[in-house]
Amino acid sequence: MHVVCAVGEGWLWLITAYYPSEDEWCDDFRTSDKERMKCSLCGASMIEGKIKHIVDMEKQTIIIKDVPALVCKQCGASCLDDEVVEKLEKMVDELLKNRAEIVIANYSEMAA
Ligand SMILES: [Zn+2]
Repeated sequence: MHVVCAVGEGWLWLITAYYPSEDEWCDDFRTSDKERMKCSLCGASMIEGKIKHIVDMEKQTIIIKDVPALVCKQCGASCLDDEVVEKLEKMVDELLKNRAEIVIANYSEMAA
């Protein structure tokens, strides 16, 4: 699964796509020193925040709220930790078993 970071209107969105596309924006952020992370789009510093993770499938939409992420103070671009991405993948797999058209979940509740 590949993750695509995106800037949403009014709030920060991270869209996960199931098609194989290169993960261009996130690679720069894979360092243990979060303090020094810079946004690859605008160069501003990234701070820890929460985003919504949206998985838009053909027949189902999964929304996971309160996902911990690094967020650019300036342009709102966001990026996820590898560990968080792994957990999200498991959550999405689980949530897809729910046949509802739209499933809304909370990261902190599911990760607990
Ligand atoms: Zn930025």
